[in-house]
Amino acid sequence: IKDSVELHAEQTLKAGDYRGNPELVREFTKRAPEALQWLKDCGLVFLPGVYQVYGGLHPRAHSSTKPFGLGYIEALENKCKELNVPILLNMKVVRLIREGNLSGRVIGVEVQTKRGRTQYIRALKGVVLASGGFSANPQARALHDPRLFDLPTTNHKGATGDLIAPAQDIGAEVVGMDYIQLLPGGATTGRFIGMVSPVESVIFVNKNGDRFVAEDKRRDVIADAILGSPTKVVFGIRDEDGYAAMNKGATKAFNSAFEIGDAFKADTLDELAAKLQIPAENLKKAVETYNKAVDEKKDPLGRDPKMLIHKIEKGPFYAGRLTMAVHHTMGGVAINSHAQVMDRRGQPIPGLYAAGEVSGGVHGTNRVGGNAVAEIFTIGKMAGENAAKN
Ligand SMILES: Cc1cc2nc3c(=O)[nH]c(=O)nc-3n(C[C@H](O)[C@H](O)[C@H](O)COP(=O)(O)OP(=O)(O)OC[C@H]3O[C@@H](n4cnc5c(N)ncnc54)[C@H](O)[C@@H]3O)c2cc1C
Repeated sequence: IKDSVELHAEQTLKAGDYRGNPELVREFTKRAPEALQWLKDCGLVFLPGVYQVYGGLHPRAHSSTKPFGLGYIEALENKCKELNVPILLNMKVVRLIREGNLSGRVIGVEVQTKRGRTQYIRALKGVVLASGGFSANPQARALHDPRLFDLPTTNHKGATGDLIAPAQDIGAEVVGMDYIQLLPGGATTGRFIGMVSPVESVIFVNKNGDRFVAEDKRRDVIADAILGSPTKVVFGIRDEDGYAAMNKGATKAFNSAFEIGDAFKADTLDELAAKLQIPAENLKKAVETYNKAVDEKKDPLGRDPKMLIHKIEKGPFYAGRLTMAVHHTMGGVAINSHAQVMDRRGQPIPGLYAAGEVSGGVHGTNRVGGNAVAEIFTIGKMAGENAAKN
C-alpha cells in the first residue's frame, strides 16, 4: 500500500472541500504515526495489518483488538493509574474560568458534583477541552442545520456539546458548526449496526433492489444518495466472506440487530430478497453486475478498482437495513496547529487547549473515516504536551 504523510493530509483536506485548516491538518498527519506508536507503548494492542474503513478513502485504518474503544480506554486508564493521574467521574464541568472576562489565562473550571454541589478545580498549567461533539443534542444540531432535528444518532448520550458555549462565554471562536456528518445506522434506532465496513466486501441496494451509489465514496456523497432514495431506507448486502471480514465490534452490533429487525440472513439471494421485501430479480441483477465489475475492474457506478476485489457469491447472505443517523460534528471551538483555542480576534486564549470532536478545523465539511480516532489521540497528545510546557 502506497501511503505518506502528504497523501494523508491532501486526502483529508480535499475530502473536507478545503475548509480544514491546512496547517493544523498537516500537523495532524505528521504526528499521527507517532500517536499510533505512543498508543502501542501505552499497551494498546492492534490487529495486524490495515484496512479501509467506510468513508476512509484509503486503506490506512488500524483496529484495536477490543471493540468500541474499549482497548483505548483500558490502555490509557492503566497508564493514568501508573502515573497517578486522577480521573474524576460524575463531575460535570459547567464553566471555564479565565482571569479577566475576555482576557488573561484560563485558570480552572467550575464543576457540579453528582449531588449538585459546586466545586472549583484550579489548573496550574492549562485546561484541555475533550468533551466531544453535539451529535446527540437535537436542538444544537437544528440550530446549525434544521434538517437534522428528527434524525437518530449513532452517538452516546453524553455527546451534547456541553462545553462549546462555556468556551464561547470566555471568548472562544467556533468554526464549521453546520458541517455535520451522517452515517448509515440501523433503520429502527439509527444505532451503529456494523455492515458498512470493510467497504471492499459490501454493496448497498435501495428498496427496488438496485445499487445506487459507489460504496467507497465520501460519506456526504453516500448520505445524500441515501436521503435521496425512495423511503430513505436502504440495505447493505454481504456474503459469507464479507460477513467474516467485519471486525469484532461490527459483527457484535450487526448480530444484535437481528432481534430488532434490522439484520437479516438467508441461504440464497432469492430468500434474502423475500425477507427484505424487495424484488429478487433486481437484487440478483445488482449482485451479478457488481460481480462482473469485480472481474473487469470497472464499475458502472464508479467504485475504485482497488475496492473491486471481493465478489458477493458465497451463501449465506447477510443484509443490514440502514438509514442516515447523525454521526459526527466536524465543527467546534477553533484551534491552531498547537491545539490552542483561538479567540474571536484570531489570538490563542492562554491556557486553553482543545482536541477531538469539541474542536473544529481538521475535517472541514466532511470527515474522512478513521480520522476521528486518529485526531483525538494525535491532537490530544499535542494539547497535553503543550499545556505541560507552561
Ligand atoms: C458508533 C461509532 C463508531 C465510530 N467509529 C469510528 C471509527 O471507526 N474511526 C474513527 O476514527 N472514528 C469513529 N467514530 C468517531 C469517534 O469515535 C469520535 O469522534 C471520538 O470518539 C470523539 O472523541 P472525543 O474524545 O472528542 O469525544 P467523546 O468520546 O464523546 O468523549 C467526550 C467525553 O466528555 C464527556 N463530557 C461531555 N460534556 C462534559 C462536561 N460538561 N463535563 C464533563 N464531561 C463531559 C462525555 O460524556 C464523554 O465521556 C465513531 C463514532 C461512533 C459513535
